[in-house]
Amino acid sequence: MTSISPKLQLQQLVLLQNLDDEIAEHNKLLAEVPTQIDARCAELDEIKKILATAQEEIKALQDKRKAMESEVQSENDHMAKIKIKLPAVKTNKEYTAILSEVEAVKEKVSDLEDKELEIMEVLEEKHKAIPAIENNCKEEDARFQEYKAKKEGELSRMKQELDVYIAKREKLMEQVDKVMVQRYEKVAKSRGGQAVAPLRDNICQGCFQQILPQMVINVKVGETILQCASCLCFLYWEEVTEPATPK
Ligand SMILES: [Zn+2]
Repeated sequence: MTSISPKLQLQQLVLLQNLDDEIAEHNKLLAEVPTQIDARCAELDEIKKILATAQEEIKALQDKRKAMESEVQSENDHMAKIKIKLPAVKTNKEYTAILSEVEAVKEKVSDLEDKELEIMEVLEEKHKAIPAIENNCKEEDARFQEYKAKKEGELSRMKQELDVYIAKREKLMEQVDKVMVQRYEKVAKSRGGQAVAPLRDNICQGCFQQILPQMVINVKVGETILQCASCLCFLYWEEVTEPATPK
């Protein structure tokens, strides 16, 4: 194997770091997207639940109304049966008893009818509210489908990009010095993925510690592979371009 100049080795390490950063970032985003879609789906389910609840309430009221109607019917049947007894009545006492029974049934029926009317009013209100709830559901569903499609598009684009970065990394791996990669990976493992850091002025951008002047000069020259004494990151020189200050 032909020996690789330190300058090129450093360039390779910087490239490797960039690729690893991209790969890590893409993996992180790829894991996040399904969770984001699930969260939006849960929100949509909550909105759909409002509609289902409203429909269930209507159904319950309709059932209650039907039960009342059949109760009214049976009370009316009861009344008819009482009235049949009237022609056979012989005493005033019996007559009064039957009349008061009729009155009681009448009162009961009127009471039931009042309650039924109340239910009908509530039902009307609930029915009126349904179209707006349905509309909201439809809109939210469309919004969710749009969001999901967009996110799935992002996912497949990110997967493609990730494949490209992985392929580039594999190609780079064929060229780099294996010992150097081992050193790189050891540092990266202990520092959450970072093994290469720019040196800006005299500050290591990996740990933000000052670097000794002689080392700064050596990093600037770039003829040797140097690691920060405190964080062990491989250092490369980065020119600081001052942002234009408005006068
Ligand atoms: Zn450092």
